[in-house]
Amino acid sequence: MYHRYDGGWIEVVCGSMFSGKTEELIRRLKRAQYAKQKTQVFKPALDDRYHQNNVSSHAGTQIEAIVVESVEDIAAQLNDNTEVVGIDEVQFFGWEIVEFCDKLADMGKRVIIAGLDMDFRGEPFGPVPVLMAQAEAVDKLQAICMVCGAPASRTQRLVAGKPAPYDAPIILVGTEEVYQARCRRCHTVPKVQNQ
Ligand code: ZN
Repeated sequence: MYHRYDGGWIEVVCGSMFSGKTEELIRRLKRAQYAKQKTQVFKPALDDRYHQNNVSSHAGTQIEAIVVESVEDIAAQLNDNTEVVGIDEVQFFGWEIVEFCDKLADMGKRVIIAGLDMDFRGEPFGPVPVLMAQAEAVDKLQAICMVCGAPASRTQRLVAGKPAPYDAPIILVGTEEVYQARCRRCHTVPKVQNQ
């Protein structure tokens, strides 16, 4: 299923939490490294769940990564001779990531990006849907619904054990909240009543 595009290209690995996105990103990057291709991996500073200078999957595999604050930061640290560029948690970058990835692909680089395609509300997450549109290849991975066991495409956000309401902030790091993979039927987002 993988074609060779000598002019560079973009691959997107997306899906809900617990769908194995980062695992798949790491697998592809390690394959490139085995082939002695020059790789660089970036992740946003916001994601501090695991080791700082690694991208780590829930399954425990990891790869060395450069922690960056912004797209400009990636541009500043990118080596000219890098052939494969991996970016994890791409949903946390601003819209400038779209043009940036396009430019890297135009320069002949293989760009592999992983991220959430939907936020906890089940709505498109920032620039990821646009990246999916401009990519040569998109893989949307499924998790398993933690309620009913069906294939799961959505991320359920629970705050203090209850489904987070629609207008809760999208990005909250380090607070007491839990995420679950859920199917469309079990995914719950309470709308706040207008008073
Ligand atoms: Zn379900």
